[in-house]
Amino acid sequence: MSAKSQTSPGRSPLIEVRNLKKYYPVRGGLLRRKVADVKAVDDVSFAIYPGETLGLVGESGCGKTTVSKTMLRLEEATAGHIFFEGEDVLAADAAGMKNLRRNMQIVFQDPYSSLDPRLPVGESIAEALVVHGIGDPQERFERVLAVLRKVGLEDYHATRYPHQFSGGQRQRIGIARALILDPKFIVLDEPVSALDVSIQAQVLNLLSDLQQELGLTYLFVAHNLAVVEHISHRVAVMYLGRVAEIAPRKALFKKPLHPYTQALMSAVPKKHPAEKKERILLTGDVPSPLNPPTGCRFHPRCPVARMGHCDVEEPQLRQLEPEHWVACHYAEDFI
Ligand code: SF4
Repeated sequence: MSAKSQTSPGRSPLIEVRNLKKYYPVRGGLLRRKVADVKAVDDVSFAIYPGETLGLVGESGCGKTTVSKTMLRLEEATAGHIFFEGEDVLAADAAGMKNLRRNMQIVFQDPYSSLDPRLPVGESIAEALVVHGIGDPQERFERVLAVLRKVGLEDYHATRYPHQFSGGQRQRIGIARALILDPKFIVLDEPVSALDVSIQAQVLNLLSDLQQELGLTYLFVAHNLAVVEHISHRVAVMYLGRVAEIAPRKALFKKPLHPYTQALMSAVPKKHPAEKKERILLTGDVPSPLNPPTGCRFHPRCPVARMGHCDVEEPQLRQLEPEHWVACHYAEDFI
């Protein structure tokens, strides 16, 4: 099944990732020649539609952050295509990329590290307007105030410094910076992982409200499934550089079809104490992307692996239910 066929008929994606690869060369010997590749992202394809949130989940080191950074060209891809409104992002020159960046923004896990501690936050937020030559100083100042109000902050916050804010407020500033150019698409890279649980809900609600108000499209990268369930319309699960399963949120949380997703789900605390589900404990560590297992990459940890098949043949993503794609030879057993 081709990567292209993972798009939904009748809908045009805002952004489409096709056969994306990101390898990091490993060098050795006196001449520092390339001796191997770390395959951080290895043939990943998915589409995101206007106004939706795609959750991208998986354990640490599965490649989800590398995918998101490569989509914005904060990292250069090794191979593949990324189309934004049909335009090939990876083929764009510097001027083309500058234009694309107006529409493609990112919010990082730790906004503090991306804010200049010596600049009042209003100036940090206005930086992108200066880079893109938008408005005069007065117009820029007014836009900064408007975006601060949009994220629930006050006008006087524009003249304060990053260290004067709480973690939740700093993340609101990170969101304001992403919004200042009126983008269509925002990567949210673990945006609430560093926040207290009580603040997490406030920031997630703010993101949902902004999406509705401004028609934004999100890629929400996270390792916390409960958070992803709260905000996503569809969810893609990554394992060792590849997509294991991609499905609408309700379908995925009700009936995951990939054994890896089932194991992740079994670890999520139940909403009602009456709901009992046996926890699936995965044995062993995540293998190294330097030397991924043969066949299905999950087979050394899969509780239902069938040797002679799973360790030999790599499963491809197959559509088993509407918009529900799974890379497992035996996924039909779980329908
Ligand atoms: Fe498990 Fe085999 Fe499916 Fe891989 S292909 S997830 S090893 S059953």
